[in-house]
Amino acid sequence: SLLIAIYIYLMSNFEYLLSPIDNIKGVGKKTLNSFNKKKIFTIFDLLWHLPISKIETAEDTEIKDLQVGKNYNIKVTPIKYNFPRIRNLPNKVICEKNGVKLDCIFFNSYEGYIKKLLPLNEEIIIHGKANNFRNKFQFVNPTTKNSSNLNIINEESKYSLSDGLTLNKYNQVINNVLQNLPELEEWLPQSISSLFNHVKWKECVIKIHKEEITKIRSTKYFKRLVFDEIFANFLLSSNIRSKIKKIKKKNKILNYQHQSKIIDSLKFKLTIDQISSLKSINKDMGSKQKMFRLLQGDVGSGKTIVSVIAALNVIKAGYQVAIMAPTEILAIQHYKFILENFNKYCNPEILTGKTEYKKRKKILSDLLNNKIDILIGTHSLYQEKITYFNLGLIIIDEQHKFGVNQRKKLSDKGGKDCDVLVMSATPIPRTMMMTIYGDMDISLIKSKPKNRQPIKTYSKNETKINEVINFIKGEISKENQVFWVCPLIKESKKMDHQSATEKYKYLSKIFKNKVDIIHGAMGKEEKDNVLKKFNDRNIDILVSTTVIEVGIDFPNANVIVIENSNKYGLSQLHQLRGRVGRGNKESTCILMFKAGLSENARKRITILKNSNDGFKIAEEDLKIRGYGDILGFKQSGLKKYNLADPIQHEDLFKVAEKEIKKIEKNNIKIKNYNKLIKLYDKVAVINDTI
Ligand code: ADP
Ligand code: MG
Repeated sequence: SLLIAIYIYLMSNFEYLLSPIDNIKGVGKKTLNSFNKKKIFTIFDLLWHLPISKIETAEDTEIKDLQVGKNYNIKVTPIKYNFPRIRNLPNKVICEKNGVKLDCIFFNSYEGYIKKLLPLNEEIIIHGKANNFRNKFQFVNPTTKNSSNLNIINEESKYSLSDGLTLNKYNQVINNVLQNLPELEEWLPQSISSLFNHVKWKECVIKIHKEEITKIRSTKYFKRLVFDEIFANFLLSSNIRSKIKKIKKKNKILNYQHQSKIIDSLKFKLTIDQISSLKSINKDMGSKQKMFRLLQGDVGSGKTIVSVIAALNVIKAGYQVAIMAPTEILAIQHYKFILENFNKYCNPEILTGKTEYKKRKKILSDLLNNKIDILIGTHSLYQEKITYFNLGLIIIDEQHKFGVNQRKKLSDKGGKDCDVLVMSATPIPRTMMMTIYGDMDISLIKSKPKNRQPIKTYSKNETKINEVINFIKGEISKENQVFWVCPLIKESKKMDHQSATEKYKYLSKIFKNKVDIIHGAMGKEEKDNVLKKFNDRNIDILVSTTVIEVGIDFPNANVIVIENSNKYGLSQLHQLRGRVGRGNKESTCILMFKAGLSENARKRITILKNSNDGFKIAEEDLKIRGYGDILGFKQSGLKKYNLADPIQHEDLFKVAEKEIKKIEKNNIKIKNYNKLIKLYDKVAVINDTI
């Protein structure tokens, strides 16, 4: 029973960290609100808001020697109250020292409190920051100290505050928390905790709040906490993955002769990486475990065909398939690709948000009756209530913006017999791989098809548009085609369309009826038409907004002009550029910019000129922008680590990854890991809105 008592004690200590911040004495509704504004909800949250600097408190001094902005413990005698009883006017206590006066000013404080804090005619030590107002020194909302502890605290941590929080209040709260921090049982294995000299979690937390922050970052105390954060995040993903793996499904019986027939009918030979990815996918689908796999490969590496062969395999095995693309344009393209090349093997249909009611009804009933075996749509299919006859595979194309939680839901959707394949062209820096995709198995297409030539990238000041026009004329005379991508104007889709429309008019004057335009606001039929015209080479130039950024594939187009290129991030430019260089012709990307480039924009353009390798570009992007902003993950709500940073702590990410692999391989179960996960659960988890 003693053991039980100890257990309950430890447990309650652990729960203390997860309890809401207003459990702390002295935190009322107002303070709670201020903390919530800073995204601090639990005591645990509070721990990761580190002090921004130290404040030194100066020795007692004469009033005339006070320096504005410095903190003091100063011995004074309150001599007069001044409580104006008028709204918005603060209460005042006039104090004196050796014949010189200063004011103590109180906002939002009751008279009773003030009288207790500063009784008249008794010498007392006040603590606060010296201010000067109309030539008189004053202390705003000072605290008091008795002389016994005067010299103990002469250095204090300073935190960034939000509305309604004073430094005094903040310090009172954080000090209270640090005093009550529980001793947690060690969750790190010996081999890892030895990397940090076996310092304990609690000690580390106290250190990072009490020591100079610039100095603490390089110490074992800080690094241990960084490691905890990474490790917890990886463990969580790993848990999700093993949970998904435990789901037993009916194994799909695949027909490899059928597959060979399809592969033999292709106009090209699959690359080694395409074949090996396909093998892993087939192996997963043929197993009794649910597939949850990411197919990753740089733009143009040929992911589509891999997924389509997998889909045809599943259909042959007697199941239905759903394919989701991020844009309607891409959905149309996939649909046509399948319809034109593989209609012998399947019966495809397309469903998007714009499909009209009658057609939609027909499609839904055909799906239920197994008359459609492959449904292509936009990501919104994910939210629709569609009942399939027997869905066997969900393919999600170009999805780098789904987070762990969304993927988890996806894997649940479609029932237990449904495998999930996610495709992404977004190159993730090595260190971020586990953070972002730790819940999935991964197949990588590293090499591009052999016929590819590197894309030549140039930058051009927009005043030299005539040179660009001349270059295009030359390319068109060689039967080549051109994408012209128009400026991205933040927050305004309408404006985007406008600028694209203007450019369309401008180019039409030069190239007559060989130009057309496409943008997101057009209807499906319209888009369909334009894409067909471009595909049939009835037009030479396709003016567009960034809707063509992802996925679309016109191997005959070999020039892309990107206006206002300085407005895009590196990864986005790389994606856009990836619209060309998909056939065997030499391709060109022209990055146009306005004069007066920022240093970062200049850097980005240089990096692009020098590399066609998405992974290298992603690493550079990470260095320029920091990981929070890369890859469009900002929109996805990928929560930042509190302390960990993939560049600075690359070594720790590696250690954590190795440890996770070891745990998975040997099926190690450690009770304390659950505590770690529970504590850190919220870190780096992605929100749920698409
Ligand atoms: P992504 O990986 O960016 O989705 P796609 O799947 O759209 O790339 O493929 C890009 C282009 O490469 C397509 O035109 C496709 O037909 C072609 N392709 C795919 N695999 C090969 C290959 N092994 N050899 C030659 N061309 C290929
Ligand atoms: Mg693609």
